[in-house]
Amino acid sequence: MIYKRSSTLFANAEKVIPGGVNSPVRAFKAVGGTPIFVKEAKGAYLYDEDGNVLIDYINSWGPMILGHAYAPVVNAVVEKAKKGTSFGMPTEIETEIAELAVSMVPNIDKIRFVNSGTEACMSAVRLARGYTGKDKIIKFAGCYHGHSDSFLIQAGSGAVTFGSPNSPGVTEGTAKDTLLANYNDLKNVEALIQANKNEIACIILEPVAGNMGCIPPVAGFLEGLRSLCDANDILLIFDEVMTGFRLAKGGAQQLLNVNADIVCFGKVIGGGLPVGAFAARNEIMNYLAPLGPVYQAGTLSGNPLAMAAGLAMLKALNEDSEIFNRLAEKTEYLHKGLAKVLEKNNITHTINRMGSMISVHFNEEKVIDFKTAAKGNNERFKTFFHGMLNNGIYIAPSAFETWFITDALTYEDLDKTIAACDAVFK
Ligand SMILES: *Cc1c(COP(=O)(O)O)cnc(C)c1O
Repeated sequence: MIYKRSSTLFANAEKVIPGGVNSPVRAFKAVGGTPIFVKEAKGAYLYDEDGNVLIDYINSWGPMILGHAYAPVVNAVVEKAKKGTSFGMPTEIETEIAELAVSMVPNIDKIRFVNSGTEACMSAVRLARGYTGKDKIIKFAGCYHGHSDSFLIQAGSGAVTFGSPNSPGVTEGTAKDTLLANYNDLKNVEALIQANKNEIACIILEPVAGNMGCIPPVAGFLEGLRSLCDANDILLIFDEVMTGFRLAKGGAQQLLNVNADIVCFGKVIGGGLPVGAFAARNEIMNYLAPLGPVYQAGTLSGNPLAMAAGLAMLKALNEDSEIFNRLAEKTEYLHKGLAKVLEKNNITHTINRMGSMISVHFNEEKVIDFKTAAKGNNERFKTFFHGMLNNGIYIAPSAFETWFITDALTYEDLDKTIAACDAVFK
């Protein structure tokens, strides 16, 4: 494939944007080569600036669960835009999407909309601290909760891709309140709670991890966290920015049947526009300004374009009783097909999957936490990434990312993807 125009556009971008990108993982640093500039996208396909067509497994890192330029979402945004794009005043559509979200997700009474997953997680932790009157939080190595200071301690996603899971600029004062645990290791969490009695406000985690590849929780892990939280007056925060409205209508809470105290959303809930949200039961949400003392605000929060996109997306998901089964079936088909060709070509691998999230790890052992994820063969991943790309398949340019299956993918697309994998390793 030719990337002439992408190379030129990237060179221009590098002069005026740090690293040429507005979010680090886009720069292809982990895999080398030139980032691809997208011209447009429709359904399962990306069309780049050089005229290449790619089958997309990133889908804007999750939001485009029904494929790119999904007509009901696009139409809703266009119609809204004609009537003004932001007022900084209440609008009826905010209540409409809030009612729908609250009806779809278990165990929440109220929801507050923000502009990104980062904001959602940051605000959820502030709320947990305010509500409990305690300062410390527990997070897990390899989980990503956005780029706010408290979370840039052994963070996943781009943070590990760039080898700087702990960012300069995060003060020691902030870092000391973030306690780090190993994913899927209940004993570790128990020990941290014992060592910090009555100091921990919340445990925050991705109920199915998606930012160190896809790592499902082992049996009993989420239930164990729930019990530990109940026994120690700690709030359990599920960061469902990736899993919310993706694994099920009610997200991981519903699929795995464990209730969180606060749930964070992003990605799918915005239908491709900048949206995040956090939600909880009344007694917790009523602690937020203007009802309660915990402050949180946003000039563009709940703006009509974002709400129109999100509402159209949630409606589509809510009205389609088969959508999540269909997505899971496609993902299983891809899993089996990839496993078959990797085995045939004697490539050591582990494939993790849950619902429409899947990741391929070039590992000997099972990938269950950050330590095991980090043991993957990165040279092999680079070969895989560029080989797939040359065959017209766009996967994440880092081994620490999940692939997102969309409803727009056909079985023919999946077969092409499996055949590409076979071709790469032959
Ligand atoms: C993407 C992501 C975030 C951050 O969301 P942004 O919209 O990028 O700020 C937080 N948590 C999880 C689990 C995510 O996947």
